[in-house]
Amino acid sequence: MSESNGSGNGVWEERWHPLREEWVIVAAHRQDRPWSGETVPRENKVLPHYVDDCYLCPGNLRISGKRNEQYDGVFVFDNDHPCVGLNAPSDPKTPAGVFQNRPADGIARVVCYTPRHDLALAQLKPIEIENLLSTWQRQYVELGSRDDINHVLVFENKGEVVGVSNPHPHCQIYATNFVFKTIETEAAVSARHVAQSGRPLFAEIVEAEQEESKRIICENENALAFLPFFARYAYEVFVAPKRTHKSLADLSDPEVHDFAAVLQETLIRFDNLWQMPFPYVMTLHQAPTDGADHRGFHFHIEFHPPLRKPNLLKYLAGPEIGGGNFLSDTAPEQKVAELQSLPIRHYTESRTEPIVK
Ligand SMILES: [Zn+2]
Ligand SMILES: [Zn+2]
Repeated sequence: MSESNGSGNGVWEERWHPLREEWVIVAAHRQDRPWSGETVPRENKVLPHYVDDCYLCPGNLRISGKRNEQYDGVFVFDNDHPCVGLNAPSDPKTPAGVFQNRPADGIARVVCYTPRHDLALAQLKPIEIENLLSTWQRQYVELGSRDDINHVLVFENKGEVVGVSNPHPHCQIYATNFVFKTIETEAAVSARHVAQSGRPLFAEIVEAEQEESKRIICENENALAFLPFFARYAYEVFVAPKRTHKSLADLSDPEVHDFAAVLQETLIRFDNLWQMPFPYVMTLHQAPTDGADHRGFHFHIEFHPPLRKPNLLKYLAGPEIGGGNFLSDTAPEQKVAELQSLPIRHYTESRTEPIVK
């Protein structure tokens, strides 16, 4: 191993992303180049518990004319404006020559985490996070058991910089007849790896992270969070159970409990980083439900935060969009040190604490 890997300073190398099968270019000497372009304003508004025109708050009317239940825990409903739906045309017109198309079927749902408009996932009680994980388990089993559903994608877009204008904490589910590209690649790579070596690929990633230990953010008996060696985004974090399970639904109760704790600590550290709601795209990576053998697939959550600094977006440009490989200006070892150094009490709780004289 080169010395540059040790400190994280001045890393300038390519790193292999084994789950995506692509190289990530790490050029951490570039990070402090001057920036005179657009910046993103901090999001730090104080929100009310309930907003009467929020389409996610309990009892409110949605644009479709349907009314939300007076829910007091997790609330799931079918998306009124789905990107995928079972009423998509089932027999699309055949295009010319090499072009191909197929029906885009699916079921889209919205999952509200809590009736409270003002809370983020990081701020829920541990039991509420466990209840949310149970809901995700049930949704995966229910939707995934359908013959016309081959994959269940659960994701949360959080923050205005990823296009979400409503802060009410919620995620979405796209249960589809197709398998999303990233999952398709991970499933293929994982199947090949377990067939060749007898061991799940992701378990070997966890093992290597534990061996180097410096990129682990937190862990307990059954789960851990780490900023992977091959991270593409500055604050990209994976949260995973230690044992290989192809979906969240296969975790035992103690594993769900430990997973919830690690997930919450990760989210609190994110929010504490800049003392503001931390924007991200969070995605559950679970095995396709297409009936194939996915025993090498290891469920995990991936966080892709778009900010490099409190007010600075990671722009996807020539290398990423044009060339297809990520170029990271920061070394995972530097960024994880920032997350590791933070308190594990949410900053909004500390802020209301009486000052002891
Ligand atoms: Zn709301
Ligand atoms: Zn993944």
